[in-house]
Amino acid sequence: MKRKNKSASRRRGEILSVDTYSLMGDPKTRDLFVYDESGLGIGLYTSSGITVHFIAPNEWSGSGSSSSGKRMLNLNRETDPSTPQYGLHIVDDAVSPTNDFYLARCVPEVYPTVFGHPADAKKISICSVDALQWYGAALYSVWLERALAHELGHATGLYHHDDNEPDGNPCLMKFDNGPNTWVSTTNFCTTGANCQSQINVKDP
Ligand SMILES: [Zn+2]
Ligand SMILES: [Zn+2]
Repeated sequence: MKRKNKSASRRRGEILSVDTYSLMGDPKTRDLFVYDESGLGIGLYTSSGITVHFIAPNEWSGSGSSSSGKRMLNLNRETDPSTPQYGLHIVDDAVSPTNDFYLARCVPEVYPTVFGHPADAKKISICSVDALQWYGAALYSVWLERALAHELGHATGLYHHDDNEPDGNPCLMKFDNGPNTWVSTTNFCTTGANCQSQINVKDP
């Protein structure tokens, strides 16, 4: 998947600075910041209408390692440090832990699982080696883009909803029932559970 290499930081709600150029932020635009450690991409998440910015490791701040708590955006240029903006960390863990066959997951900061906005999500983990083995090469890339979008959905406040709901509306947050369900699905639903309207990229 093609991905942007641009790194970004911003003044909240005002100016977005991307590498050497800046653009005026549109208050209606919803921006999400992602540190994509292994270059996995972001899958279909842009279909949610969110603008995703890839950031570099030196744009994190806060305590902890880059794989855990250190994922607050560099606040040097923030005008309002009382409202930190969190980024999302995407990692390739290659192989699932023993006795645990999650091929993709959004790991919450706090258990039991609570998702509402990026600060609640510790990391998004993809187990590429296991997934490749499970799905095979051809299906793996299809799975990966949907899995990343699904996990980004969790990280921005979405939960699963039922495949059997009467709305008949396909949604990336329903695809846990296997390949036949999610392969044909490329978007978040806009009616029924209306996942699209629930996506929250703003931290408190
Ligand atoms: Zn899920
Ligand atoms: Zn949905």
